[in-house]
Amino acid sequence: MAHKCFISFKTQDIDYKKEIQEDFGIDMIDKSLNEAIDSKDEDYIMRKIREDYLSDSTVTIHLIGSYNAENDLQQDQTYIKRELQASLYNGKNNTKNGILGVVLPSMYKNIYKGEYTCHFCGEIHNYVAIDDETVVKEFSYNYYIPKINGCCWTEEDRYCVLVKWDDFKDSPNEYIDNAFDKRSSPIKCPPKSRHEFSNDPNNSFLHAA
Ligand SMILES: [Zn+2]
Repeated sequence: MAHKCFISFKTQDIDYKKEIQEDFGIDMIDKSLNEAIDSKDEDYIMRKIREDYLSDSTVTIHLIGSYNAENDLQQDQTYIKRELQASLYNGKNNTKNGILGVVLPSMYKNIYKGEYTCHFCGEIHNYVAIDDETVVKEFSYNYYIPKINGCCWTEEDRYCVLVKWDDFKDSPNEYIDNAFDKRSSPIKCPPKSRHEFSNDPNNSFLHAA
């Protein structure tokens, strides 16, 4: 089944956005927020983004390139943050979107860091560095949703879905479906669109996947 998708991306990664739009055969909502909405009222801005850009879509494809980090002081992350927040908003006529994070090739080695032996359970886990050095908190929080027990996250623990660009390219609809299905699947902790992230100790550094 085709799902209408909205692409959230940094302008530096626009070639990947174009490739998805032109070559992937996905039913796409071709609107992206590159111009400021003329208002200082944040609630109004968020409502405009939801109504004018996102209301028609059910999956947000969030491109994760080299300029997405929460901690990147050279970058203004306002737009991608608002897009993710609006995507996660669950309103009456505007249900939340599934979120599919697509890791672009330039970030493979920064995010997929190999294996390590866990000092909690003794098992081997993969290091997947979805954190302030790679993405904005709106993504990382809903990928590693804070939990009390356990050392590693399963797919059932997450709201965001993550995929490498090359895998996404091979079967885009499979991953879009996975993200879409998250909208109705039980998540142990609901995703958050607005959250006081700064005091969250669970959102610090590397977590196991
Ligand atoms: Zn473990």
